[in-house]
Amino acid sequence: MIRAKSAEELRGMRQAGAVVGDTLRLLREMIAPGIRTRALAKEAERFIRSRGAVPTFKGYQGFPGAICISINEEAVHGLPSWRKLREGDVVSVDVGATLNGYVGDSAITVGVGTISAQARALIDASRDGLHAAIDVARPGAHVGDLGAAVESLVRARGFDIVQSYCGHGIGHALHEDPQVPNVGDVGTGPILEPGWCLAIEPVITAGSAQVIVEPDGWTVRTRDRSLAAHYELAIAITSAAPEILSLTSRDELP
Ligand code: MG
Ligand code: MG
Repeated sequence: MIRAKSAEELRGMRQAGAVVGDTLRLLREMIAPGIRTRALAKEAERFIRSRGAVPTFKGYQGFPGAICISINEEAVHGLPSWRKLREGDVVSVDVGATLNGYVGDSAITVGVGTISAQARALIDASRDGLHAAIDVARPGAHVGDLGAAVESLVRARGFDIVQSYCGHGIGHALHEDPQVPNVGDVGTGPILEPGWCLAIEPVITAGSAQVIVEPDGWTVRTRDRSLAAHYELAIAITSAAPEILSLTSRDELP
């Protein structure tokens, strides 16, 4: 069951999304060689709570961290730890915040210091693939159109797409219907309607897109240890261009 959000619900989604966007800006400023990932998570949680929200992922299905931090070959769901970021690392931070019963969920991937040309191209492709999907997210489009848009852009850049994780509806719960795959065929899947809120989140890899879960039970990494990147935004379908819910108007992130 996919339900369009009311104007009041969209206000709530926007407020939750703004907490997420501001948290990501804070993390982007903190990311530098030498910082421990647990310090990033601690600061993110402090900030989210200072805004009257709670970190959605903490305790979600038992997840132990306040946010997900995935480095290099880690694709998604990495755990904050004592590990220090190093020059050249590729770090994805995925933030969820629940405010007044509404959930925001977004992710960015950031290079630590100077990164390789391949890492830069991979990060750019994950962000551009996300925006390619947003560009076609109009009423009357199919969910498959979004996946097709991600897939064609990412493959044209020479990268692969992890298919076992995908985007999702979002609202009062972190994961609502429909699933939003990052591959697909034009004209397939549910037809988008105004008021739907969707989190779109391509997870892409420089090598094989086969992934495994680490023994910690959470961290998903590429089997061949090739680099991965992940961007995510939550949007609301409108009668025109979709509204990006996870940001304030202050800047362009991600
Ligand atoms: Mg997320
Ligand atoms: Mg998500």
